[in-house]
Amino acid sequence: EAKRSGRSHAVYTVKIDQTYASRLALMGDLRQAIEKNELSLYCQPKVHVESSRLCGAEALVRWPHPERGILSTGQFIELAEHSGLITPLTHWVLESAFRHRYAWQAKGVTQPLSVNLSAHDLRDPALVGWIEGLMSTWGAEPDWIEFELTESALMQDPVRAVSTLGRLKQLGSRLFVDDFGIGHSSLSYLQKLPVDALKIDQSFVAPITEDRSSAAIVRLAVGLGHDLGLEVVAEGVENRAQWDRLAELGCDVIQGYYVGNPMPADQYGCWQQSSPWR
Ligand code: C2E
Ligand code: CA
Ligand code: CA
Ligand code: CA
Repeated sequence: EAKRSGRSHAVYTVKIDQTYASRLALMGDLRQAIEKNELSLYCQPKVHVESSRLCGAEALVRWPHPERGILSTGQFIELAEHSGLITPLTHWVLESAFRHRYAWQAKGVTQPLSVNLSAHDLRDPALVGWIEGLMSTWGAEPDWIEFELTESALMQDPVRAVSTLGRLKQLGSRLFVDDFGIGHSSLSYLQKLPVDALKIDQSFVAPITEDRSSAAIVRLAVGLGHDLGLEVVAEGVENRAQWDRLAELGCDVIQGYYVGNPMPADQYGCWQQSSPWR
């Protein structure tokens, strides 16, 4: 008995150790990638439903790893959040977003670019000052850069979230609740947050044409959003049938492969000039 449990314990330890070692190695690689400017910024367009016109883009970070190829963004963001690398990563993304948005201005692209912030960023007392600094460096208008915060990040520390969002709002930036519907948000807190829009999570969007319960949830989210004076965005829209259903349900803005895939930020200006959605 003792021997058996001892052995299984040993196996378990080795397994954990390997995972830990590989996570550690990946963290080292990520730190280097940030320092050496090896990340890249992608942009995905958003389209206004009523006019079928582009109304903005979301900044999505990519990490082309020299040996492992492009790593799943969700995974390395989570790694960054748990290793203290999220602050330098967010700084990199913000700098890059302001630089690209500045370049768009010269090309006549006037749409906003939204940046994802993490739960950890919301707790960083230096974040808002950092953003303010970038705004003045680039001579940015408040509508250049918007911010997306997941519902679950907001709910980790709702009191702090209200205060950080209030400070971001004072800069004049528009704020989005991201992944709405899966983050167990307390609706009373939602009411206290100075946000401008909701992004309905793609897990409700994907089955929208077949599944009545997803449609019911989207209808509820649209109603709630509109009653609170918020714009409602649907993400992960891949086809016309989904677009039509979401339009019927009253969504204001659509994002997803149907409109356009995420593309390197420096291609966005050209893409939008020849896009059917311009
Ligand atoms: P998200 O903010 O919900 O971003 C939307 C994700 O859906 C993106 O995945 C995007 O590429 C993907 N997507 C877009 N259109 C479609 C579609 O039509 N169908 C499907 N199935 N997927 C679609 P991505 O780029 O892999 O990012 C995953 C998550 O990583 C993001 O989810 C966001 O939470 C996080 N993330 C990405 N970039 C950043 C960043 O710069 N900072 C932070 N803190 N998080 C980021
Ligand atoms: Ca997002
Ligand atoms: Ca989302
Ligand atoms: Ca998501």
